Amino acid sequence: MKKRLILATNNKDKIFEISKILDGLQIEILSANDFDDFPDVEETGETLAENATLKAVSVFAKYGLPCVADDTGLEVDYLNGEPGVKSARFAGEGCSYADNNKKLLKLLEGVPTEMRSARFKTVIAFADFEGRIHTVEGILDGIIADDRRGSYGFGYDPVFIVADKTIRLAEMPPEEKNRISHRGRALEKIRPIILRAFKIDT
Ligand code: IMP
Repeated sequence: MKKRLILATNNKDKIFEISKILDGLQIEILSANDFDDFPDVEETGETLAENATLKAVSVFAKYGLPCVADDTGLEVDYLNGEPGVKSARFAGEGCSYADNNKKLLKLLEGVPTEMRSARFKTVIAFADFEGRIHTVEGILDGIIADDRRGSYGFGYDPVFIVADKTIRLAEMPPEEKNRISHRGRALEKIRPIILRAFKIDT
């Protein structure tokens, strides 16, 4: 059995994180960048799990290889779980990370700290050699700050204060973020499932 795994993304931060978790296992990691005609799957699902699964299923259907796909959202309690599945396009189609943060801060203007609780949620869907889908979830709790700070990371990191800490995700170097992050936690959970599918003993 040839050990090849496709990551359904062209985001180099994600490719780096996932490759690191699977380091030393002799699995060849391919990503969207390695294909000319990679399926561009519309995220039409109503949940993170549906979107991650849609991506994993389409990639498996096209290439017949095991595949890892993920979807992440920020859930803000005061906004009844929004932006959630719409996190990427919160401020509108084609908006920037800065636009999203600006909109979020505006919506929470004047809201007291104890009502600013939020969490990042990542769902990873893994399509195994038979195309069976396995999903896992990783969560990171925190609160939304009232300004932006920090230059690491991406997305909502500058406004997200990690629970039990005083710093933003955007103030943590990547290795530190990956150790505690929603995506890091989901990856840790999917790792043994991938290893089992590839029949790798650790
Ligand atoms: P995706 O599903 O991973 O592409 O994430 C959707 C959106 O959620 C991104 O466009 C970002 O705005 C946000 N996001 C995802 N992961 C993170 C993270 O680790 N930190 C901050 N924002 C994130």
